[in-house]
Amino acid sequence: PPDVEDLGRATWTFLHTTAAYYPEKPTPTQRSSMLGLLKALPNLYPCGWCASHLKENMAIHPPDKVVDDRLSLSKWLCERHNDVNERLGKPIFDCSKTDERWKDGPKD
Ligand code: FAD
Repeated sequence: PPDVEDLGRATWTFLHTTAAYYPEKPTPTQRSSMLGLLKALPNLYPCGWCASHLKENMAIHPPDKVVDDRLSLSKWLCERHNDVNERLGKPIFDCSKTDERWKDGPKD
């Protein structure tokens, strides 16, 4: 089976980076593609217990509206990642720093 930690880091890198560069005003195709990507995760993510936690979390926090714009999407993903961080006893990430971490880099 895959290394759950390596898989997690790689997946979060992909998801946060893709959200950071998501359009401010996505086209209907970009919107439905992102929604499809997010909704596929609980069905396909190759860590069974992670996928099942994610499914429960996404039932409470559906992604359907957040794919309307880049900042809503980035914030939603940050919050979902923080839900995992909290469950694993890892530090909670400041979601106002999402662009700095995944897009712009630190100031100076
Ligand atoms: P990661 O949590 O992988 O984070 C990588 C980097 O992202 C950090 O160094 C930090 O710079 C940044 N970061 C941290 N938090 C945030 C945030 N909230 N928003 C933006 N950036 C942030 N592991 C399990 O053991 N059990 C699970 O149930 C589980 N569920 C998962 C569900 C999903 C959908 C994913 C993608 C991963 C899951 N994982 C799970 C893996 C887990 O989240 C970590 O990826 C793994 O433990 C490695 O942790 P890490 O400390 O190296 O950093």
